[in-house]
Amino acid sequence: MQAAGHRKQILFFLIAVILPSLVLIVFTLRMIRQERELAQMRIKEERSRLSREIGENLFVRLEKIKIQEVTTTAGPEPWQTGVKYRNPEVALLGLVDGDRLLMPWELDRKLEESLRLLNQPNFRAEIGQAERMEFSGGGPDQAATLHAQILKKAAEPVQREYARLLLARALAKAGKKTEALALYRTILNLSSEVRDEFGLPLSYYAAGSLIDQSGDHGRIVERITEELQTRSWFSPGEAYRLRDLIEELGRSTSRSPWKAVADCQLAIQEHLQRLTQALELQRDFQGLRLALFPGGTAQKGKTGNASGDDFPWGVFGENPWLITLVPAPSDRLEVLLAVEAHALMASLRSEKSFADAFPQDFSLVAGASSDGEFPGDNFRGLRITFAGNAAPIAPPFRAFQPLFYQLVVLLVVSMTLFGAYLLWKDIRRELHLAGMRSQFVSSVSHELKTPLTAIRMFAETLRLRRAKNQQMEQEYLDTIVNESERLTRLLNNVLDFSKIEKGKKMYRPQPADLAGILRAAVRAMDYPLGQQGFDLRVDIEDNVPEVCVDRDALEQAVLNLLHNAMKYSGDARSIELRLKRADRCALIQVADRGIGIEPREQKRIFEKFYRIPSKENERLPGTGLGLALVDHIAKAHGGRVEVASTPGQGSTFSIFLPLEKP
Ligand code: ADP
Repeated sequence: MQAAGHRKQILFFLIAVILPSLVLIVFTLRMIRQERELAQMRIKEERSRLSREIGENLFVRLEKIKIQEVTTTAGPEPWQTGVKYRNPEVALLGLVDGDRLLMPWELDRKLEESLRLLNQPNFRAEIGQAERMEFSGGGPDQAATLHAQILKKAAEPVQREYARLLLARALAKAGKKTEALALYRTILNLSSEVRDEFGLPLSYYAAGSLIDQSGDHGRIVERITEELQTRSWFSPGEAYRLRDLIEELGRSTSRSPWKAVADCQLAIQEHLQRLTQALELQRDFQGLRLALFPGGTAQKGKTGNASGDDFPWGVFGENPWLITLVPAPSDRLEVLLAVEAHALMASLRSEKSFADAFPQDFSLVAGASSDGEFPGDNFRGLRITFAGNAAPIAPPFRAFQPLFYQLVVLLVVSMTLFGAYLLWKDIRRELHLAGMRSQFVSSVSHELKTPLTAIRMFAETLRLRRAKNQQMEQEYLDTIVNESERLTRLLNNVLDFSKIEKGKKMYRPQPADLAGILRAAVRAMDYPLGQQGFDLRVDIEDNVPEVCVDRDALEQAVLNLLHNAMKYSGDARSIELRLKRADRCALIQVADRGIGIEPREQKRIFEKFYRIPSKENERLPGTGLGLALVDHIAKAHGGRVEVASTPGQGSTFSIFLPLEKP
């Protein structure tokens, strides 16, 4: 019956609580997942929108640069001269000749012109003669004279300066150092457009010689700095020569302005990097052009900008360059314009309006890799990637939503678990009580049976007048009385307990003499004690005043304790009953020298139905109610009951009753 009831209870709990909770949890988890997916989608959408806007901004800026650098016809053609580009973000301007990309240094018309002048037969012949003199003939002095003559005669500035350089060299060899240095200094100041037949500026030669022979390092560094700052491009030959010069200056740091040399080193590094990238671009140009601008010709502009027909912007290189082709205004050839993406972004970010509109951390990457967003149709192979994973713009609640759902799940789970725990506890208690009750019924029946059997047996013996003599008859009668007293006590216990359970137990306290109550109890126990050979010592102090108690209840409590003392005495046969005054209490003590109680059991013995689960106890009859009643009676009188016990040595139960009425 009981088990079926519990099963029903559990089933009900499952259906009523756990099932809905499970459903709720599953739904909430699904919602969290969906919410997360949605958030991801929102992030993606937002990023794609941002990318397009960034793309627009980039494009506008790039077009502006394009117009400034290429389509403006005023001024010198920037791809042909060594001057600085108008926009610092521009990396390269080149010309497209069929499949070939022509580099700025390959487009220099002045170089062609000076080559022509230097290679004029007359001039070459004279120079040849002087050099033969210098290296194999009459020696540097005579060579110097010849060079001086050529210098005087030369009609063209390039020829003059060339002759001056050779003269300086010959003078230096001839030991005329001062004159040679003076010439070198003049040449150092020349524009780098004055070059020799290999395309190297004469001033670079002068700089090299001056580093070796003079202490003019300050001026040389100045000249090189000026060169690095004013020109966008150097031919590979120029760039490497400059690098060597700067290294030489660096090596003789004692005489060079350290900081300026370091700046030059950085600048030439940058130039060389750009040079490498430009050469790679030149090498890959044909394939790149097909990949980036498949039409080969200009497409219709997508943003309706002024120039109308446009190529889109492609990407090239590790430090990405944004590149496009522009129909040149004055030339049949197209111009290639390359802009450094990072430099461009940096300059855009430095504008407040841009930084306010796009506060996120993002970067431009080259290549059609899968991550990153497409910045719009104006670009090919360019992606924008965003740092971090947070939604760019999240409404406040949306940000907390997942947390909210998680909290709900947590709450539901913990409430369900708590409910389950309570139910488990309840069931356990019920089972425990059920077990105890069934044990109680069997022990009560057992306890009733023993005295009843005795009463019946002795009563029948007396009825049949089988008693041998008067004394035996008296003994039989005593036993009957004693056993019926035991029955009464037992029934009193059970009845009291049932009243207590129902909350109907009433005590009628009246001022009473405790000693009298104890003596009555002793009288009642006299016969069974004597029968079993117990020695009861009663120690009643006479300074204990009257206390307000329910006589019957207190007597019952003392009887229960005395009875237990007998029952659990084992082989010991001495019991003490004491009454004394302890502080503001009257103290009744029942002490035995019996089996004692384990410390961990000492609290539980006062619980209803509780019997210590031991071998001895199984043999001894009992209901587990005696001490529970003692406890209840003591508390009902405003007192308490305590036990002090050592296993194997005995137990002392103490009832404290307050002397003042509580
Ligand atoms: P019972 O009917 O079993 O005696 P009680 O409530 O009177 O029920 O006692 C509860 C348990 O306490 C007993 O089963 C017994 O194990 C233990 N107990 C009670 N009194 C004593 C005692 N004087 N010495 C040792 N154990 C005792």
